[in-house]
Amino acid sequence: MTKEEFYDKYEPKEILGRGVSSVVRRCVDKRTSQEYAVKIIDITPSDKMTSQEIEEIREATVKEIDILKKVCGQDNIIQLKDCYESKAFFFLVFDLMKRGELFDYLTEKVTLSEKETRKIMRALLEVVQFLHNQEIVHRDLKPENILLDDDMNIRLTDFGFAVQIQPGQRLKEVCGTPVYLAPEIIECSMDAGHAGYGTAVDMWSSGVIMYTLLAGSPPFWHRKQMLMLRMILAGSYDYSSPEWEDRSDTVKDLISRMLVVDPKQRITVTDALNHSFFSQYKVDEVRQFSPYRRFKVICMTVLATMRIYCNYRRAKPVTKEVIESDPYAVKPIRKLIDACAFKIYGHWVKKGQTQNRAALFENTPKAILLSIVAEADEPGQHIS
Ligand code: ADP
Ligand code: MG
Repeated sequence: MTKEEFYDKYEPKEILGRGVSSVVRRCVDKRTSQEYAVKIIDITPSDKMTSQEIEEIREATVKEIDILKKVCGQDNIIQLKDCYESKAFFFLVFDLMKRGELFDYLTEKVTLSEKETRKIMRALLEVVQFLHNQEIVHRDLKPENILLDDDMNIRLTDFGFAVQIQPGQRLKEVCGTPVYLAPEIIECSMDAGHAGYGTAVDMWSSGVIMYTLLAGSPPFWHRKQMLMLRMILAGSYDYSSPEWEDRSDTVKDLISRMLVVDPKQRITVTDALNHSFFSQYKVDEVRQFSPYRRFKVICMTVLATMRIYCNYRRAKPVTKEVIESDPYAVKPIRKLIDACAFKIYGHWVKKGQTQNRAALFENTPKAILLSIVAEADEPGQHIS
């Protein structure tokens, strides 16, 4: 379909995000007023890009569209709705994800709980499993490419680097985002004779994402990119930051199995989904001794015990003796007495007279009380 057809059908609005050679805008279907997101890929000949580079972008976009069509239908993958091409632009129309990137959500929340991480990671790994079953490698898994829908469900996007391989085929192309790069991709860039890499690179990136969601910062990071790449090659990361103090060993175990430098030893997506971290019940969760956690539990136990004890002390048990000796001290009986007094006298006795009201119901009638009652019995007289 052509560019004119796109503008006939949709009205482009504000920018939602930008990539290297693309701009993503909100757009509205003129007929239905339904909102979408359009990824506009610029392939205009310009001074900035050589015609060879433009041809590469064009080919890559055709591949991206091809993969998007192949993966269509999985719940947690962005759906390509429409696609238009002109000499200068591609327009890829997707469902609009109003809540934006997981990256921004994480920035706002700083770190996520294990529960929320479990929900996101399960959905992400199910997508990865769906892709790997078709021998598709995404190659750019990162929180910026994971979008959130209105119900906080994730949708994987940006299949710009995705490629479908033949079973057993190895890739050598260096692509992805530095922080999430698997060691074998970096090795490929350094060694022309390298055997190449496969689907396992997505498991490495998933491990980096999982670590980042829980810690709020990535496992391999250094201001100097060269040093960061060295950290990745050595697989040197740790759980020493305070965010990890309260995390279960189960979650650390899964991450450690994903961030394995040797791709052959790295956990596969199916094994990861079968890991106990994803079991519905957390009974098998092993926790190591943590002084902070122990102190917190002790404080909470003391507080709860004190609360129960104080409430118990405050609530006096109602015994026969109490009712006999001081019935007016017990609230429900006091209410009953007052109600009876109202019935007898036809009006409430003044507040100052409460003692007298109580006295009305004492077991042994007193002389003074009898005289009050006698007075009240006379017509036109009230107790006051
Ligand atoms: P690139 O290949 O240039 O990185 P992406 O497909 O990743 O392009 O899109 C770039 C950014 O645009 C995303 O990171 C996201 O912020 C935004 N974006 C992309 N698709 C959508 C969408 N369907 N709904 C909302 N925002 C989107
Ligand atoms: Mg992107």
